[in-house]
Parts: sequence; C-alpha cells; structure tokens
Amino acid sequence: MKVYFQDLTVHSSKRFELIDITWKVEEAVAASGIRNGLCLVYAPHATAAIIANEHESGLLYDLLAKVRELFPEGAGYRHDRIDDNAHAHLASAFLASSRIFPVRDGRLVRGTWQNILLVEADGPRTRRVVVEVLGES
Ligand code: ZN
Repeated sequence: MKVYFQDLTVHSSKRFELIDITWKVEEAVAASGIRNGLCLVYAPHATAAIIANEHESGLLYDLLAKVRELFPEGAGYRHDRIDDNAHAHLASAFLASSRIFPVRDGRLVRGTWQNILLVEADGPRTRRVVVEVLGES
C-alpha cells in the first residue's frame, strides 16, 4: 500500500466563509499516483470544518446562515471568556474536521453536487488542510 501526503494552505478573508478546495484535493489525488484507495481531507483546526456539498451561491449562503443559526456567536458560552470563539469550536466539533472519499481509477469519487468545502467559522486566518491518499498505485 502506498501513502501520499500533501498539505494545502487556505486563506480565509472573513469571519464566516466557505472555501472550495475541490480542485486542490483532486490535484493532490492526481499527484499521488494512487489508483484505488481512500482520500482523507482533514483540517487540523478546532474552529474550522470540512463538508461536501454543492457550490451554488444561494446554497453557500444558506449553509453559512445555518451554521450561524446553529452556533450563534456570543451566546453566553464559557469558552468566550478565554478567546471569544466558542461558536467556532462548536461548529467544528459538530460538523467534523475531516471527510473521507473513495479513490477509484485514479480519481476522487464524489457526487456531481458534492464539492469539498472548508467551513471557516473564526476567520480571517490561514488554514492548513491535510490531504492523505492511501491505496494501491
Ligand atoms: Zn477558542
């Protein structure tokens, strides 16, 4: 079995933002030379998350609106006494900081309406996204 790693650097420019990293992940899968296996997409951050869904402007707005509704800022969280970003920790914890995709015939398997999106909930920041591809070449 072969293992390939690539770290992506993603810059957010707003406090809440969805950033499409699909093509970067697909480039990493292509660079891996792995034909069949799995691709882990992991954000090593406690205040961001990774999701897979449609990159359509209305839906991107709806997704962020829902994140802000589910995890409102300044809702009396204890963690806000330390650094005022408890809402982002909660969003990261419940949305999850990683997703796994199949790799088949050298390509990432995803639905037509499943782009890979970094959920920024405490930007602007520079985020690292770890792409790890495991499988047979
Ligand atoms: Zn914090």
